[in-house]
Amino acid sequence: MATTRRPSFPARLDTLAPNKSQPPQAPRRAAQPQASLAAARPAVAPQGLGLDSSAVRARMVQKLAQQGITDAQVLTAMGTVERHRFVDSALVNQSYEDTSLPIGLGQTISKPNVVARMLELLMGGRRDAQGKLGRVLEIGTGCGYQAAVLSLLASEVYSIERLRGLHEKARSNLRALRVPNLHLLLGDGMIGYEKGAPYAGIIAAAGGDALPPAWTDQLAVGARLVAPMATAEGRQALIVVEKTPQGLKQSVLEAVQFVPLKSGIA
Ligand code: SAH
Repeated sequence: MATTRRPSFPARLDTLAPNKSQPPQAPRRAAQPQASLAAARPAVAPQGLGLDSSAVRARMVQKLAQQGITDAQVLTAMGTVERHRFVDSALVNQSYEDTSLPIGLGQTISKPNVVARMLELLMGGRRDAQGKLGRVLEIGTGCGYQAAVLSLLASEVYSIERLRGLHEKARSNLRALRVPNLHLLLGDGMIGYEKGAPYAGIIAAAGGDALPPAWTDQLAVGARLVAPMATAEGRQALIVVEKTPQGLKQSVLEAVQFVPLKSGIA
């Protein structure tokens, strides 16, 4: 991969609008080398709130570390992506608080602690020669925040959203951030994205009653899946599934509250 060329601008985020009966098709690969998200500035940025200061994110990262997040790469990535650029202007003051926030169409962006925790579980101490996880699939792009953080941790990210309005919102939020290794797809994430498989990791931001079989099918041996899922008690918990040569190994972790996983696009 080229590393010495300067990134060109504007970045091209790959998008698709498949019809309802078809799975997403292969996005075009962007040609630009990867750039730092910290260096990018979307066209519209809230002014005068002090949110542009890296100190605000540093405080959030400090809190995440106090809450038990230990993966240095996850902490660095969380400290790099400017969360306030993904949050609606009326809520922007709460961007770095440990709270979930509405992102429109009845959906929410998870609180930073949950994002960091899930990413740490996804990484699970695994890294390639470049210090990254390989190709990753995200189900539920939402506003694009977690996808942006993931793009710093994985070599390639495919992120699927079923709501056109949010897919467009993420595309607009991410446009100026120059993220060539992030591919946004409009489609039903319950069928995964076969063309990118096998994945070194799969992460879902919406919870269903059971794991869609496509997800475990599309997971590489040795890879992990992290998702919210309904428990027998009718609650929701984070689960981690590892695909081993001997089969799937599932762990049920702490209780969480995620929006429902739904099928089809809308
Ligand atoms: N990671 C997101 C959080 C999004 S909330 C962020 O950083 O903003 C979860 C998202 O999952 C919602 O936008 C919802 O529309 C989406 N979703 C639910 N079911 C889905 C499915 N089957 N395929 C793709 N996206 C889905």
